[in-house]
Amino acid sequence: MEMSLFRKTVLVAGGAGFIGSHLCAELLGRGARVICVDSFLTGRRGNIARFLDDPAFRLIENDVAQPLHVDGRLHQIYNLASPASPPQYQADPEHTMLTNVLGTRNLLALARDKSARFVQASTSEVYGDPQMHPQKEDYVGHVNCTGTRACYDEGKRAAESLCFDHLRAGAADVRVARIFNTYGPQMCPDDGRIVSNLICQALQNRPMTIYGDGSQTRSFCYVSDMVEGLIRLMERAAPPETPVNLGNPGEFTVMELANLIRRLVPTTAKPVFRPLPQDDPRKRRPDISLAGQLLEWRPQVALEHGLRQTIPWFESQLFPAAPEGAA
Ligand code: NAD
Repeated sequence: MEMSLFRKTVLVAGGAGFIGSHLCAELLGRGARVICVDSFLTGRRGNIARFLDDPAFRLIENDVAQPLHVDGRLHQIYNLASPASPPQYQADPEHTMLTNVLGTRNLLALARDKSARFVQASTSEVYGDPQMHPQKEDYVGHVNCTGTRACYDEGKRAAESLCFDHLRAGAADVRVARIFNTYGPQMCPDDGRIVSNLICQALQNRPMTIYGDGSQTRSFCYVSDMVEGLIRLMERAAPPETPVNLGNPGEFTVMELANLIRRLVPTTAKPVFRPLPQDDPRKRRPDISLAGQLLEWRPQVALEHGLRQTIPWFESQLFPAAPEGAA
């Protein structure tokens, strides 16, 4: 499904981040004018450098927890602004909570004022360490509200609550995507996420860190599939009035992921085992039947293929080519 966004103005908060920059590229490719709002907390200028000369692209440097003013018509708002990996969101937990609560409130107010549709990037972390497997949207979760992940998990839960209050009040047309583990080029090599860690360690022939015994499971969605899911959620005629899981239901143990990476990257790296972090979920797999029904969406990219696309990106970040003419 390729919908044209010609003449639509779309605001992407967090557009300089990993998923956000792929989303900006896809929206520009479909003819939209894109306004990227980002504080560059975890996003990188390099991710959006290629858009800066495009007259259809505009950058507003702003912390979404602060009030935001945007001139002119806005048709759609995607809120992806939040640090997403534990080391990044735990670096300043209070700011993470405020980014998700005040940032979402500020952007919802903008959606209301501009009569713009709104898509919120929520997370599978709202399910916490789940007692239901796989996770369906009606599962209310198992989250520790005082743990070291709470600033993010509870911040995202509060943001969902704000979204549905706005929808029920008729203040804005709001849709909520619960995003599961997503990977691909433009991830930050030092973001501490499992895919980045294992690929970078393999490329550098360093020990590959496995937390616990590696039997915990994760599901990995390639970024182009995620972007397509987010756009379909935005373009659906009516808001689904329930969060929608977006992720790849293929389930792999962490050890299987490490072994696959060791097969794809020529490496001498060996696994090294470390204690599991606090509240680390044992199992994680989305039930995506709702996304299938409502959006006719399911991921197309298999893990091995996605990793083959991603490994050269990390290689280019870790071992930048010498400039031409260098001795
Ligand atoms: P990312 O860190 O690469 O991107 C987040 C972007 O938001 C960055 O550009 C960052 O600078 C910006 N940002 C953070 N705080 C901000 C603030 N206060 N004001 C303005 N900009 C701010 O992360 P990502 O992986 O691209 O994730 C994007 C969204 O998707 C996040 O909301 C995240 O919670 C959600 N998500 C991602 C995953 C995943 O696996 N990547 C999984 C679940 C949910």
